[in-house]
Amino acid sequence: MIAIIVRRGNSHPELAEVPDPIPEAGEALLRTLRVGIDGTDHEVIQGNHGGYPEGDDYQILGHEAVAIVEDPNGTDLEEGELVVPTVRRPPDGTNDYFKQGEPDMASDGHYVERGIVGAHGYMSEFFTSSPEFLVSVPDSFAEYGFLVEPISNSEKAFEHAFASRSAFEWDPESALVLGNGPLGLLTLAMLETPSSPFERNYCLGRRDRPDPTIEIIERLGSTYVDSRETSVNMMPDAHEAVDLVYEATGYAKHAFETVDALMPNGVGALLGIPSNWEFEVDGGRLHREIVLKNKALFGSVNSNVRQFEAAKTRLAEFPNWFFDEFVTGVYAPREAEAAFKTGDDIIKTVVEFDTQ
Ligand code: NDP
Ligand code: ZN
Repeated sequence: MIAIIVRRGNSHPELAEVPDPIPEAGEALLRTLRVGIDGTDHEVIQGNHGGYPEGDDYQILGHEAVAIVEDPNGTDLEEGELVVPTVRRPPDGTNDYFKQGEPDMASDGHYVERGIVGAHGYMSEFFTSSPEFLVSVPDSFAEYGFLVEPISNSEKAFEHAFASRSAFEWDPESALVLGNGPLGLLTLAMLETPSSPFERNYCLGRRDRPDPTIEIIERLGSTYVDSRETSVNMMPDAHEAVDLVYEATGYAKHAFETVDALMPNGVGALLGIPSNWEFEVDGGRLHREIVLKNKALFGSVNSNVRQFEAAKTRLAEFPNWFFDEFVTGVYAPREAEAAFKTGDDIIKTVVEFDTQ
């Protein structure tokens, strides 16, 4: 079968012929429809993140997929059923994190991640998986079901944010998303769905108009904040202090500036993955601010099946125009190089292996 891979020692994606996967007992065979590309894939290609599956000199890329059951192979799945796979798998045998259904809470070494670290991803015509790592989705998800995975990462962050505020009456109304990359924009769309309690939402970027991400921000009904004019800690003066900050820039100063953008009793979720960067902060003032104003700050990575289920419901609430504006390119596998291009007019790209 064909697959999009990165070879050891290389730092570019390529189309290759690889062996067909053979499902083991208890595993189904899946036919891939679409696989989304995100910043993590670029990190994997550059060799900054993840690692090759043991014994292989290449890695099949991709962790945001939607697929169809080709052969249930004795599992409870039905042929033709549409599914979205989760990302983490137990390294060898299982462990408590997986038994509890909380692989997202496992620390390094207690998991592999398909397409990222130690396991092949989904950018191939077929892949295999145990059903416990597959979330069934409706047929209407064939085109955009690959967005369930990234949305589930934010579902987890929201769940943890609300849980951290659950000891008192918290009625959040305003949120600030840091970053207008794919994760930031998806999260903003989540905050703007009809069922969201957030009434006023802001999204921070550093782009000039006209820009397709600013157009999406405003069409969603949110306010664009330019960090070159209004830094994160200036939010209370420039707009308002917010109940929730969701950081998706990977810009390390934002983790600390978040504290000042929050209302008393507010919470900041950090999702960005920065490289090392030393800078000065007034740690005493920030520490005091967190304590005396009951603020919380937490980090969040990955997601579990429950959060994939929540993401399904959320995705179904997105307006149709959003998908057209957000997904800026659909590529055939032979166009792998183009699919991985980046630029200000490129938001989210996807490789299409097959249609339903
Ligand atoms: P991108 O890098 O595509 O997006 C980051 C965005 O932040 C860009 O649009 C960038 O603007 C903007 N940005 C960066 N610095 C600033 C700044 N100082 N002021 C204003 N805007 C800024 O990444 P993604 O959207 O894919 O992901 C966001 C982060 O989350 C990444 O760090 C990624 O690694 C991480 N991540 C974490 C996950 C988790 O589970 N914790 C899951 C997935 C991703 P511009 O484009 O103009 O440069
Ligand atoms: Zn990802």
